[in-house]
Amino acid sequence: MNENEAEKYTGMLEMMGFVPAVDMENADFILFNTCCVRENAELKVFGHLGALKGLKREKPWLLIAVAGCMMQEPHMVEDIKKKHKHVDLVLGTQNIHELPQTIYERLTREKSIINVYDTERYIPEGMPLKREHPYKAWLSIMYGCNNFCSYCIVPHVRGRERSRELSDILDEARYLAEDGVKEITLLGQNVNSYGKTLEEKIDFSELLYALSKVDGIQRIRFMTSHPKDISNSLIMAMSELDKVCKHLHLPLQAGSDKVLKEMNRHYTKQRYLEIVDFARSKIPGLALTTDIMVGFPGETEQDFAETLDVAKRVEYDLAYTFIYSIRKGTPAAEREDQIPEEEKKSRFQRLLEVQDAASLKKNMEYIGKTEFVLNEGKSKTNSDINTGRTDTNKIVNFKSKEDTAGQIIKVRITDAGAWSLEGETV
Ligand code: SF4
Repeated sequence: MNENEAEKYTGMLEMMGFVPAVDMENADFILFNTCCVRENAELKVFGHLGALKGLKREKPWLLIAVAGCMMQEPHMVEDIKKKHKHVDLVLGTQNIHELPQTIYERLTREKSIINVYDTERYIPEGMPLKREHPYKAWLSIMYGCNNFCSYCIVPHVRGRERSRELSDILDEARYLAEDGVKEITLLGQNVNSYGKTLEEKIDFSELLYALSKVDGIQRIRFMTSHPKDISNSLIMAMSELDKVCKHLHLPLQAGSDKVLKEMNRHYTKQRYLEIVDFARSKIPGLALTTDIMVGFPGETEQDFAETLDVAKRVEYDLAYTFIYSIRKGTPAAEREDQIPEEEKKSRFQRLLEVQDAASLKKNMEYIGKTEFVLNEGKSKTNSDINTGRTDTNKIVNFKSKEDTAGQIIKVRITDAGAWSLEGETV
């Protein structure tokens, strides 16, 4: 979602006549699109802002903006006001579309402009957008979250759940198809509750059926799917609709029922494993990925063993693994039974070992198979090689004599590592 919003900022800036600078030193306008999900990312932003004080002194016309969900945290905005007076504009997550007017205000008034709504408003439609990729696009279908997992800051900074109208989503998908996009990824903090805030009743699986009818769109992906809300109708839609990719990202977070309860996740280990079994039984060849957190407050060795047990049993294709990070303002941050850093790191390492072995094993199973790959064009690091993804979201690097960028082509897989596959065109 953060990347999708960065594309919106870029689109608006281009329409205003801005062009990309080669580096920060040569820029006249610098915007930090922040993320507050983890502490590290926040610290980096403040590091960058501090480093820019000198540049601002040398180039007083330089405009510095900070946007994104960090700016929805009142204490962060206070920090900027007190310690980073060289920041010219601050934009909240509900104010993205107000970037042009905020820049204008800053240029016409000699003071910093803070533009942050603290409550959710209407969803602005039709914003210009500069896609990073010609054949793939993000498509946000909803904003906010109502779940309040006890470690997570997102509902506090992104507000309550709001779904976009079906007609607006379909219009955007048609526009993207006309613009050459073959693959869309639907975005929402919890796509399984899509439609709940709309007057016209529709659920996420119905949205998938509707989007499947858009000519030109050949692949549909989505994230993220909360296990507590996943429905049989979604699994059936995935199994029936050819355009919906056979890849399910199903965040586990923890394997212990006690920890899941304290995280406010509303499912158990057993229920999670049942969903996995059902999905695999209905969707042959399904790739499963997940998010796992270690070191949640009060997590014991036995709790962690339950997480490892799920990771071993499911054998995820890929897992985004995290060490719990204290987020001020969340219930988990107030707990006194925080896990020592060394313990968290040790568990994280043990989880990585299990997961890396599973990722490699899953990828090795592809060797010798022929896969349909959306050719995304030349690799950024090697212009002799093309790169693309399978239906199951595996990265494939391959040589191709013909220029088939933007097409879904057949590639025979010849080798595999934990992160990607190698292949040759058929
Ligand atoms: S579902 Fe939970 S983890 Fe995901 S955004 Fe909402 S509160 Fe955060």
